[in-house]
Amino acid sequence: MTNLHCPYCGSREVEEFAFRKTLPEPDTDDVASVYLRTSRLESSVEHWQHLRGCRAWLKVCRNPSTGEIHEIELLGGFRS
Ligand SMILES: [Zn+2]
Repeated sequence: MTNLHCPYCGSREVEEFAFRKTLPEPDTDDVASVYLRTSRLESSVEHWQHLRGCRAWLKVCRNPSTGEIHEIELLGGFRS
């Protein structure tokens, strides 16, 4: 993963972005989502922020093993 596509700024080097957190699986209960996070090799949903750009928060769906990005969504609804 060398580039991320920011909905406002376009394709940018990953160094401009800051990883914030990995989101739990949607069917995880509240306690497990706080205390039992697991790393998934095949898919991950994460929050990133375009810290050295527009500072937008992004929801990034990607494969952490390969770095392949499946979808990037601006938190708030806009998809790219
Ligand atoms: Zn941006």
